[in-house]
Amino acid sequence: MVTEIRPSTTELERAVWDALATIEDPELPIAVTDLGVIRDVSIDGGRVHVTMVPTFSACPAIGVMREDIRRRLGALPGVDEVAVELSFAEPWTMARMSERGRQRLNHHGLSVPSPGVEGAVKCPFCGSTNTSMENPFGPTLCRAIYYCLDCKNPIERFRPPAD
Ligand SMILES: [Zn+2]
Repeated sequence: MVTEIRPSTTELERAVWDALATIEDPELPIAVTDLGVIRDVSIDGGRVHVTMVPTFSACPAIGVMREDIRRRLGALPGVDEVAVELSFAEPWTMARMSERGRQRLNHHGLSVPSPGVEGAVKCPFCGSTNTSMENPFGPTLCRAIYYCLDCKNPIERFRPPAD
């Protein structure tokens, strides 16, 4: 008879957060943990329950992330069952995004509004705020296209949820 060595709840919790940190938004170069969409993780024996705060209810990326989470966590040793629940109780805001996440998006030419300074679109290439909106509907529902009037670069802006 083989005795299975199961990880403790603390070990499992750490493994779950480590795994979450490697799952990226399918449309943005940012991990789900840096994006701030993971609200809560609870573990009960081999059952893992993850609560997510969707960035945009219309954003198709959330479904992909949810599937990724279910698959990746389900493959961890000691996990029997994974439930990923979407919570709309408290809306996602830019403030939930980590500083590291913001910086990564900026490196990729995506302008990220800072909390409290909604509206001012800063060019990630030259830092100018002399920008104009080109197209409110960017390549995905989550982005809008702006244009920098100083360095003439197009800017993709991460769109805050329904303003
Ligand atoms: Zn610029």
